Amino acid sequence: RRVGYAIVGLGKLSVQELIPAARTSQESYVAALVTSEEDKGEGFAQALGLTDADVYTYDEFDRLAEREDVEAVYIVLPNSLHRDFITRAARMGKHVLSEKPLGMDAKDAQKIVDACKKAGVLLMTAYRCQYSPHHWAARDAVQSGKLGKVKLLDSMHVQVEDDPTVWRLQKELAGGGPLPDVGIYSLNTLRFVTGQEPEWVFATLHQPKGDKRFKEVEESVSFMLGFPDGVTANCHTSYGAFKTDTLRVMGDEGSVLMDPAFKYEGLKLTIQDEAGAMTPTFPPYDQFGLEFDHFAQRVRDGKTPWTPGEEAVQDHVIMDAIYESARTGKVVNLKAVKKKDAFR
Ligand code: NAD
Repeated sequence: RRVGYAIVGLGKLSVQELIPAARTSQESYVAALVTSEEDKGEGFAQALGLTDADVYTYDEFDRLAEREDVEAVYIVLPNSLHRDFITRAARMGKHVLSEKPLGMDAKDAQKIVDACKKAGVLLMTAYRCQYSPHHWAARDAVQSGKLGKVKLLDSMHVQVEDDPTVWRLQKELAGGGPLPDVGIYSLNTLRFVTGQEPEWVFATLHQPKGDKRFKEVEESVSFMLGFPDGVTANCHTSYGAFKTDTLRVMGDEGSVLMDPAFKYEGLKLTIQDEAGAMTPTFPPYDQFGLEFDHFAQRVRDGKTPWTPGEEAVQDHVIMDAIYESARTGKVVNLKAVKKKDAFR
C-alpha cells in the first residue's frame, strides 16, 4: 500500500521538487496539502487529483486528525515553525518527515525528538543526500579502505541570497545564516561519508556591517572539524560568494571528490587512486523520491528511519559548538558524541 502524506508548506521546495517527486512514486502519494490562505488557489490540488476538501490552511492543520488516509506529514516550513507543527502532528498520531535543519538549535531539536517519542510516532530528518547513490558510493569508497587511511577532508557549500526580506535572513525564523541552511550539508555529509563524529570544532564567521542582507545573520562561516586520529575537515559556507558545492576526502592512497556534491541532480563523483580516476554513473534517480519512499517503508514496517531526528540533534550540537567557537575564538571540544549506529 502507498503511504499518504500531507505536505505542510507550499514554498519553492514543495512546488518544484517534492510534489513532482511524490507524483511519480510507487510507495508514497500526496493525500492533503496544508498551506497559507494566499497560496491556496494555485491549482496544485487539481494537478494531484485532490479536491478543495484536501487543502487545509495552517489554522486548519489539526483537522488532519480526522484523516486516516494521512499517515505521515512532511514539514516544509521556515525552520522556527518546525517544532510547533511537528509536535502537533505527533499529537495527532501522524509520522513526521521534516526538512532540515530539524530545529533552531540542539535544545529545540531534542524537544522535537522527545515529542515524537512520547507520541510513539516516527520522525525522519530529510537529509536527502543520505538517500543518493552518489553519496553511498562515496561512503563505500571511503569506508572500504580504497583510499587507504583517511587524512584530510574539505567541503564548501555556497548559496546566494540577494533578497534582504526572505525568511532565511531573519534570525527568528531561520535560527542562523548559511550554516544551518546549507553549511549543514557539509557537516552532515562528512559525518555520513566517513562514519565518524567530530571531537572538536574551531570556527570564524563574517557578518558585514552595512549590508542590509546580513543585519541578523552571518554572511559566511568557516569551520574546522577535528575527527579521530588527527583527521581534520576544512569547511566554508556562505550566502555571499559564488554558488558552489563540493566535498573531498583525501586518503593516503587515493581521494574522493564530489563536485557538485549537494545539488538536486547532476552530481559528479570522482574516485582516484594509484590506478587512475573513475567517475561512477548511476541510472537516473530522484533524491526526494528516494527519501519519500524510504520513509513510506518505515511507516509500514515501524522501524527507525535511516536519518532519524537524533541524527539531526547531533548536527545541531555541532553547529551550536561552531557558533560558540566563532563567538569565543576558541576551540570547542565536543563531549563524546554518539555514533550514528547508536540511533538505530
Ligand atoms: P520557501 O520560502 O520557498 O517556502 C516557505 C513556505 O512556508 C511558504 O509556503 C510559506 O507560505 C510558508 N510560511 C509559513 N509561515 C511563514 C512565515 N512566517 N514566513 C515565511 N514563510 C512562511 O522556503 P523553502 O525553500 O521551501 O524552505 C522550507 C524548508 O525546507 C526549510 O526548512 C528549508 O531549510 C528546507 N529546504 C530544504 C531543501 C533541501 O534540499 N532538502 C531545499 C530548500 C529548502
